[in-house]
Amino acid sequence: VSFQDLNLSRPLLRAVSALGYTHPTPIQAACIPLALAGRDICGSAMTGSGKTAAFALPILERLLYRPRQVAATYVLILAPTRELAAQQYDWQQRPLGKAAFALPILERLLYRPRQVAATYVLILAPTRELAAQIHSMVQKLAQFTDIDAALIVGGLSLTAQAAALRAGPCIVVATPGRVIDHVRNSQGFGLEDLSVLVLDEADRLLEMGFKEELREILRMAPKQRQTLLFSATFNDDVAGLVALSLKQPVRLAA
Ligand code: AMP
Repeated sequence: VSFQDLNLSRPLLRAVSALGYTHPTPIQAACIPLALAGRDICGSAMTGSGKTAAFALPILERLLYRPRQVAATYVLILAPTRELAAQQYDWQQRPLGKAAFALPILERLLYRPRQVAATYVLILAPTRELAAQIHSMVQKLAQFTDIDAALIVGGLSLTAQAAALRAGPCIVVATPGRVIDHVRNSQGFGLEDLSVLVLDEADRLLEMGFKEELREILRMAPKQRQTLLFSATFNDDVAGLVALSLKQPVRLAA
């Protein structure tokens, strides 16, 4: 098969060829059609097999055609003429002008519940280094699209990351501990709009002691979601995580 046979859109085919990939690797040829069809996947794959693009390409393809998010408008002020509408608009700059209703509205807007921007995809990796590699690969594959990805790992500023999360990146690549910190501490980031969860190097995620964090993330994520799990090795712990996180998964071996 070729990448063209895999039903990927033009901006993704451009990225793949810019990276110099001529043919999909076996795990990519197997994984991409199934992931595009929305299936959960349990992949046995090592680093070097091309598994990052195997999960990133179908995720990007589906994000390209996601319904656009509708931003919330909180206040509607109707005026009879353009001139009056323009004057009322002006109260944002000069709130002590004629519009006596302006101040209480502004006051309430200051303390409105923050809108949680939608993050559609969460990719979890066991280490900062691996998360950074995945993030960089996702950015390269998404270079001809408007899809953005944030890297959320320990060792970087919490404040800068919280700001990045409030902007509502489509994709968050993270280590589990840091994601939980943000869900607990910052307003403006939640997992309730998640539609795809990726657990990369599941065996190492468990070896690194992230079992509780993973359980907590799985509890917060919507039940209606797609989950893709990759692991180099499978033991009872990984089988437990597969059972907890995947629905009727297709099993793939690279
Ligand atoms: P991964 O297994 O995802 O860590 O990828 C291992 C390496 O293979 C990375 O350097 C990728 O850039 C590269 N790679 C991924 N897919 C392909 C492909 N279809 N053709 C050639 N190289 C690839």
